[in-house]
Amino acid sequence: PVLIGDKVRSIIHLDSIEKNAFSDGDIQFVELLAEIISYTIERIDLYHQIEEISIRDALTSCFNRRKFDMDIIEELIRARRYRRDFSLLMIDIDWFKKFNDFHGHTNGDNVLRQLVMLINKESRETDRLYRYGGEEFVMILPETGKLEAIDLANRLRKEVEEKLFAGEELSQPKAGLTISIGVSSFPDDGEGIKTLINAADKALYTTKEKGRNRVCAA
Ligand code: GH3
Ligand code: MG
Ligand code: MG
Repeated sequence: PVLIGDKVRSIIHLDSIEKNAFSDGDIQFVELLAEIISYTIERIDLYHQIEEISIRDALTSCFNRRKFDMDIIEELIRARRYRRDFSLLMIDIDWFKKFNDFHGHTNGDNVLRQLVMLINKESRETDRLYRYGGEEFVMILPETGKLEAIDLANRLRKEVEEKLFAGEELSQPKAGLTISIGVSSFPDDGEGIKTLINAADKALYTTKEKGRNRVCAA
C-alpha cells in the first residue's frame, strides 16, 4: 500500500508466475518505492492546497482580486480571438458602513458570506465571482451580452432586496440590505481591461448617484 497519513492512496501490486520470485531485497525496494510515491503525492496535494488558497478570499471563499487579474486577461484574449462577447458586473453593497455600525461587524461578515452564496446560486456555473475589495465584488460573465448581463444583475439585485440577512430582523421594515450593480460589456464598452473595468465602475457610480438599489449599464 502507498499510505498518505493512515489512508491507502494506491496499491503497488507485484505478480509472478514463478514461486518465491521476489527476494527480501525486492520487497524492501518496492516498500521504499511506495514511500517515495507517498511523499511525492503528499507534496502535490500540498501544492494544490496552497494554489487554491492563493486564489480564494479567506472570508467568503469566492475567488479573490489576484485571480480576477489573471482571469480577465484570459477572458479578453479568448473573446478577441473567437470574437465572443462577455460582460462584467461590478457589485457593491449599499450603505454597508451603516449596516456594520448598526448590526455589528460580525453580522457584516456574515452578510458578505451569504451574499456570495446567493450570487453563486443564482448565476451560471461558467460565471465567476471575485471579491474585488471590501464590500465590492466583480463578476465575469463569459459569452454574455449586455442585455443578458443586465437581466442577471437585476435578478441578483431583487434577490438581495428580498432576502433577510442575519441581523436584519432588527431593522425597520423596508430598510433591508440592498446592492447596486454596474454593467459593462466587451466589445461595446471597450476592448481593454482598464476601459471595461472603468466603464463598469462608472456605471456603478451612477447607481449610487441615482439613489442605490439599482442596475446601470455603461
Ligand atoms: P455606498 O452605498 O456608497 O457603497 O456606501 P457604503 O457604506 O457601502 O460604502 P463605503 O465605501 O463608505 O463603506 C464600505 C464599508 O464596507 C466600510 C466597511 O465597514 C465595510 N466593509 C468592508 N470590508 C468589510 C469586511 O470584510 N467585513 C465587514 N463586516 N465590513 C466590511
Ligand atoms: Mg458600498
Ligand atoms: Mg464600496
